[in-house]
Amino acid sequence: MFLSVFDIFKIGIGPSSSHTMGPMVAASRFLTALATLPDRAGCTRLAVSLHGSLAFTGKGHATDRAVFLGLMGCLPETLDPDQAEAMVAQLRVNRTITVPEGDPVAFDPDHDLVFDYGPPLPGHANGMVFTAFYPSGEILLRQVFYSVGGGFVVSEDELSGQSSSRDSVPADVPYPFTSAVEMLRMGKGTGLSIAAMKEANERARHGPELEPGLERLQAAMNACLDRGLRHDGILPGGLSVRRRARGLHQQLLSERGSNQAQPHAATDWLLVYAMAVNEENAAGGRVVTAPTNGAAGVVPAVLRYYRDHCIGASAAGARQFLLTAAAIGGLIKHRASISGAECGCQAEVGSASAMAAAGLCAALGGTNEQVENAAEIALEHHLGMTCDPVAGLVQVPCIERNGLGAIKAVSAASLALRGDGQHFMPLDNCIETMRQTGQDMADKYKETSIGGLAVNLPEC
Ligand code: SF4
Repeated sequence: MFLSVFDIFKIGIGPSSSHTMGPMVAASRFLTALATLPDRAGCTRLAVSLHGSLAFTGKGHATDRAVFLGLMGCLPETLDPDQAEAMVAQLRVNRTITVPEGDPVAFDPDHDLVFDYGPPLPGHANGMVFTAFYPSGEILLRQVFYSVGGGFVVSEDELSGQSSSRDSVPADVPYPFTSAVEMLRMGKGTGLSIAAMKEANERARHGPELEPGLERLQAAMNACLDRGLRHDGILPGGLSVRRRARGLHQQLLSERGSNQAQPHAATDWLLVYAMAVNEENAAGGRVVTAPTNGAAGVVPAVLRYYRDHCIGASAAGARQFLLTAAAIGGLIKHRASISGAECGCQAEVGSASAMAAAGLCAALGGTNEQVENAAEIALEHHLGMTCDPVAGLVQVPCIERNGLGAIKAVSAASLALRGDGQHFMPLDNCIETMRQTGQDMADKYKETSIGGLAVNLPEC
């Protein structure tokens, strides 16, 4: 298993990696598969059904819109969010999809995409079925995809092991650790930091593309955070949630250096950075999965905190931060999950917090053992956290929750740095606990919006 820093951190669009980016990628994969069939000219109609969590919270997450855009050939990394509405409006008028190298095929967005509220598909909570029909109604092509979190998509065959997805290809990298204990052992044997081992792995996969790729990621994270600090107004979706990051940031700037600032203002800076990213995500803007869209604010917030608030911060430290965070995110995804629909919010904001804690600890000079300790502390204290987004929108509790995840990450890094790396609960055990807890969690707490905060709304 090898999960690249560019798999964990993917540039895309909001509001959700599993419910927006993944379905767009799946739709685009289906379209590509259809285009390669010799019989493609015989296709006259397409249909899509969304299952499980994609059905229950798909409207709030704009999953339907993402599928339409994917069927129109868009991908999250290159889609211009400002063009998306016009494209979907055009589809509603034309009611056709153009298969590459083929003729237009009937697809009525109001009837040919179905939110199926029946039992979820067997492979994963986020299932999708794409079907292409002959004029007779016979099936030309039917494909099932699962959006497994963080924008990752697997087909039914890939999930069952009949064909290989990129994630399952054996790793041809110098340090192929698949657990924290292996990672620490390799570090001890070579004298290398986690970031240095991760860098060697990435170089084996990406060669000279690594540097510009890391620069692009940081630039995209920073641009998203800065956009979030500039914009205010009401978020889309109907909950009338106000964007708060801009106003809070202005308050903090005005208090800076004055004797009105409380010592705990540092936590307010972390909150405002994370909220800025998640407000931008909720508005459907350009974000970086870290490791998901719902949890996209934690890593950029702690990285910005490192850059602008920590003594001795440097560009090299920021690079170490990202590589270390990606190493921890890869372990969690490999050994448990980063999907709220699979394991609750502990898998999203909990994972993000563990990644950020590890990254900050490394950037501040922590040993490998302290880094592993920092990740474990942050994840341990998110265990059991459910996913219950109100109205299926990635707004309440998600926006504030990222801020609190960032604060926990900094506290976890600080606590680990004050120790010597020796600690009671290994990170691998904590990850396994998260997986088991997620398995035991009732479905209503796993991104379905039929439990928790989502059903305990204030009376207006
Ligand atoms: S509650 Fe957590 S896991 Fe659920 S959508 Fe919000 S951020 Fe994602």
